Amino acid sequence: MPRAFGRENLSFPGRSFLLDCRNELKIVAKFIEVKTMKVKIILNPRAGRGKAAKLKAKILAELANYGYRSHLEETQWHGHAIEIAKKAVESGYDLVIAAGGDGTVNQVVNGMTGSKVPLGVLSAGTGNDFAAMIGMPADPAAAIRQIIEGETRWVDLCRLNDRYFISSVGAGFDGRVAYTANQGIRFVRGMPAYLLAVIKTLFSFRLHRVKMVADGKEREYKALLFAVTNSSTYGGGIKITPDARIDDGLFDICVVKEVTPLEVLWFLPLAIKGEHGRLQDKVGFFRGREIYLESMTPLFYQIDGEVFQDTVFRFSMIPGGFPIRGAVFAPSVRHEEVATVKEA
Ligand SMILES: [Mg+2]
Repeated sequence: MPRAFGRENLSFPGRSFLLDCRNELKIVAKFIEVKTMKVKIILNPRAGRGKAAKLKAKILAELANYGYRSHLEETQWHGHAIEIAKKAVESGYDLVIAAGGDGTVNQVVNGMTGSKVPLGVLSAGTGNDFAAMIGMPADPAAAIRQIIEGETRWVDLCRLNDRYFISSVGAGFDGRVAYTANQGIRFVRGMPAYLLAVIKTLFSFRLHRVKMVADGKEREYKALLFAVTNSSTYGGGIKITPDARIDDGLFDICVVKEVTPLEVLWFLPLAIKGEHGRLQDKVGFFRGREIYLESMTPLFYQIDGEVFQDTVFRFSMIPGGFPIRGAVFAPSVRHEEVATVKEA
């Protein structure tokens, strides 16, 4: 019989002493970490129409309470957060905190991929769907505490063409809405801003003919929108794919098929509650790991709230490919694990 080398079989002098002192050792390790850890905060001062800029002092004060050596840098132009994040991991920062909305988080993720440095998320934007998905409190001091004292959890890292994302992509009507919302909806934030953008977009309403291939299975639609997500919500809390999980290794897809502008108004309140699945002939839900979309005409799309235009969309995923510090969510049973259990 081969000898098993489980942890329980390891023995060495002083093992029982070390086991008895486990908690004390954890406290010492945390103390050493606090004294040596370098933290970079990337803050988008325009996020949430200036909300993030007002949080600077609070963030730095809270981090100083913990004794961390932290450095805050504000983004100066669109895309700057990618650059700052890249430099931060190259220059040895141990933790990066993104203070902004989903768009800021997206840029920071794109600058950090492949580094194994964990990301903390401070919600301060117009849409904070990813922050909500990972259970981050809205209060910045409470969020900092959760990041510092919390564990690192690995979530799925998603990719569309040559850009990574972590929360959601919406193409078609959705992209157009995000475009309108990003152009500036004054005086409102979050879901009200999104809903106002929806109303504005209804006037330029159109359906799109799109081929979709999900894990090898081809379908064709004349549709209003395609949402390919890892988070369950977008647009400041709309439950577009209510059963989506950020760590199950799969994309959740929602296709809203041929609808009239009036039906969109009927669809929206249901989608906010995640009950649009009731409109079975209008809405389709799918899951898959490799997704391909092809449109006859260029589609506006939003990728974590950042807006672009394209005709070909190749989605892929690195399951558990990105570390988030302080994330709180119930762990998923992975797709393969379910299959193994069923086969056993
Ligand atoms: Mg998923």
